[in-house]
Amino acid sequence: MPMRDALHARAAVLALGAALAGCATVQPVTTTEPTAAAPSANPLLADWAGPYGGVPPFDRVRVEHFEPALEAAMADHLAEIEAIASDPAAPTFENTLAAMERAGRTRERVATLYGIWGANLSTPEFQAVQRTLAPRMAAFTDRIHQNEALFRRIEAVYEARESSGLTSEQQRLAWYHHNAFVRAGARLDAPAKARLSEINQRLAALFTGFNQNVLADETDRFLVLESEAELAGLPESLREAAAAAAGAKGMPGRWVVANTRSAMDPFLTYAADRSARERAWRMFVDRGDGGGEHDNNRIIAEILALRAERAGLLGYETHAHWRLENAMAATPERAMELLESVWTPAVARVREEVADMQALADAEGAGITIEPWDYRFYAEKVRLARYDLDAGEVKPYLQLDRLREGMFWVAGELFGFDFRPVADVPVFHPDVAVWEVTDRASGRHVGLWYFDPYARAGKRSGAWMNAYRSQERFDAEVTTLVSNNSNFVEGREGEPVLISWDDARTLFHEFGHALHGLASSVAYPSLSGTSVPRDYVEFPSQLLEHWLSTPEVLQRFAVHHETGEPIPRELVERIERAATFNQGFDTVEYLASALMDMRLHLAGAVAIDPDAFEREALDALGMPREIVMRHRTPHFQHVFGSDGYSAGYYSYLWSDVLTADAYGAFTEAGGPYDRAVADRLLRHVFSAGNTVDPADAYRAFRGRDARVEALMRKRGFPAAN
Ligand SMILES: [Zn+2]
Repeated sequence: MPMRDALHARAAVLALGAALAGCATVQPVTTTEPTAAAPSANPLLADWAGPYGGVPPFDRVRVEHFEPALEAAMADHLAEIEAIASDPAAPTFENTLAAMERAGRTRERVATLYGIWGANLSTPEFQAVQRTLAPRMAAFTDRIHQNEALFRRIEAVYEARESSGLTSEQQRLAWYHHNAFVRAGARLDAPAKARLSEINQRLAALFTGFNQNVLADETDRFLVLESEAELAGLPESLREAAAAAAGAKGMPGRWVVANTRSAMDPFLTYAADRSARERAWRMFVDRGDGGGEHDNNRIIAEILALRAERAGLLGYETHAHWRLENAMAATPERAMELLESVWTPAVARVREEVADMQALADAEGAGITIEPWDYRFYAEKVRLARYDLDAGEVKPYLQLDRLREGMFWVAGELFGFDFRPVADVPVFHPDVAVWEVTDRASGRHVGLWYFDPYARAGKRSGAWMNAYRSQERFDAEVTTLVSNNSNFVEGREGEPVLISWDDARTLFHEFGHALHGLASSVAYPSLSGTSVPRDYVEFPSQLLEHWLSTPEVLQRFAVHHETGEPIPRELVERIERAATFNQGFDTVEYLASALMDMRLHLAGAVAIDPDAFEREALDALGMPREIVMRHRTPHFQHVFGSDGYSAGYYSYLWSDVLTADAYGAFTEAGGPYDRAVADRLLRHVFSAGNTVDPADAYRAFRGRDARVEALMRKRGFPAAN
């Protein structure tokens, strides 16, 4: 889930496709200051001090600092922009674009911390600040994009880009800013600009409302289990977690399962009590759709109408056409073509999966027809029966600490990075640990990697990467600060944290985003690290997942927490044989959401009843009745929690085409640690940021365009014709 800085994409937050969640308990934050006083005492407004070129002052920030700091920083940034726009000198790259890159640094630092609080330390107090600030931040962004004098200067530099002696990166930056301004309405007349700004502010308020409604349904609603019988099938760790959750809610002797994906997916996988599963499933898929004060349907209809109106103002056929213009896919039609080409084989696989599950249920004499709340439960039984693969058998080998060391080792082998824990850096919670990253060959400082592994109140669910500071070197070398955040359950004191195979993959995925930030080697921050098109950004992260299952990693880092024995080769083979298992389900639940996202945003300027639209679109698609969309419309935060992944949820599949094809470059050469291929990957992909067009970057790495065949093989589907 992204929360990119609206003006520049520097403060990227990238996540695996997980839902937002969280809880509204007050999170204590250590402070060494009394309350916010005059703006000069506001720690958010100061330069970042300390080692490594300065680090965020997590130990001194309080919620009441945000509003005055953001207001002051936005005013400063506007003044800097005004000075650039009214410069009497003729526009040049240096006095216009380089000056813009230099401007707004304080606002950017404040916005970064604001994003960190929203994702990790969300309290009712902070949520109130968000409701106030979201429309104001949208208005601020528009004031810059609508500055006519500034746009004339950018246009002049852009038009002269090929004849004015600029480097290729400077030409790319000229294109980047010019394009961003045109797309944000710089060429519109005054009334249209005014209307556009109204739309953007209203959308910002609606996005905030949408997210807070989902959060409310995930927090205020939960499954209560009254008897031991309802716990049948649940592993001990889930029982303990449910008992602890009930205790925390003042319901001792009962069990509570939270209405979040990280709690619901395992419950639906293991709970033998079918009626409890049905209750859980209905509550979970109903988030944002309950008809009460937290119902999102009216918000969705208004968001869609405003997006269609905005696309019209900007001269685009639909919101989807506007969004995809700069994506690697370029048009909604190309994205739809990919989604639809995978849909048919994926649905065919679902029919086989359902038949297998039905046969197993019949053989057990269950006397049921497979329903959506049965899918995960029976799929797990089939997995066990067919592959003899029990998640509980794998977990003892997957210690979080050892796998983290394994990731470091991979980063060393591929990119020559070394990691060293440091203790002289403030963090926002005692769980957060920090490592310094250096270049092995030269000893050069590369950046810091912050790791916040555990779930807790006030933190959104899922896993993500956040760039606290992006690499740049146009004035001076600025090094990268990145974080990985996830929601593992903290172990008991002195016991290792054991995670599932899927979680281990996610760990490597997010670390791939972190390496994309750390490996960045560009001049200008707007083009740095993960600031690349949406449908390209998941490629480096998905690619890194592949190194988890390399024998080199498993032998050394997937070792039993009691015996120290490496994971048996035979168990790894079973994991690999089961790799394409349940791909019908995984692909169809994802594709249904991706197709819905695209159809909603291709519908154009018509009134949409989200509920009816969803039903009719699924019917038209031939959605298998045993599966629900991974994200139903009323809680689809990728799409309605911001503009971020709107008409962009297809990006995960688009990137996976690149991923599957790119890994082939290694297997066709000397294997996953092939020196020459790794060097090409670093040079053309991980270090290049947005300095080159992604299609060109991929071609430079692979020697040709990506082909879809590798993706189909990876998912176990017959090749497309
Ligand atoms: Zn990702």
